[in-house]
Amino acid sequence: MSNRLFFYPDYRRYVILTDRVIDHIYAHAQRRFWQREAGGEIYSVDTDTHGLVISAATGPNKGDHRGRYSYNPDIEAATKDRVLQFASGMHAVGLWHTHPESWPTPSQKDRRTTEEYLEAFREDRHRYLMLILGNRGAPPNMTIWSAEREVTNEWIKLIEGK
Ligand SMILES: [Zn+2]
Repeated sequence: MSNRLFFYPDYRRYVILTDRVIDHIYAHAQRRFWQREAGGEIYSVDTDTHGLVISAATGPNKGDHRGRYSYNPDIEAATKDRVLQFASGMHAVGLWHTHPESWPTPSQKDRRTTEEYLEAFREDRHRYLMLILGNRGAPPNMTIWSAEREVTNEWIKLIEGK
């Protein structure tokens, strides 16, 4: 496995996912029809840098409500994860979850949820990421979106580097 790199459309900022994170997430790809959506949070040492390195991921947790087309995290377990990560210097910078589709596109709810997280962090975050893993491709197709506080509350699709 190797890292994956995603650029903002202006190529001034980028996001790197480490091996550890992609292995964690790939393990939950919905390759079979009976597999349910999974998700959690992604973390970085820095929160506001041009090059964001995602080096930890948490979830899913046992108390999550998971369906083939839905994922609702156990909020208490997710909060516990975030506190533990924070204690080791890691900051939540986004969410991840799986979709049972080849090229994952965010639902209205996905977008709303991401914006709610960004809002909840107030001045502590300028953006919040939503990573969605599809069920086809080798490595599995993945899309990343960024909810941005600045400018016009934009929702930006990142471009994967080859
Ligand atoms: Zn979704």
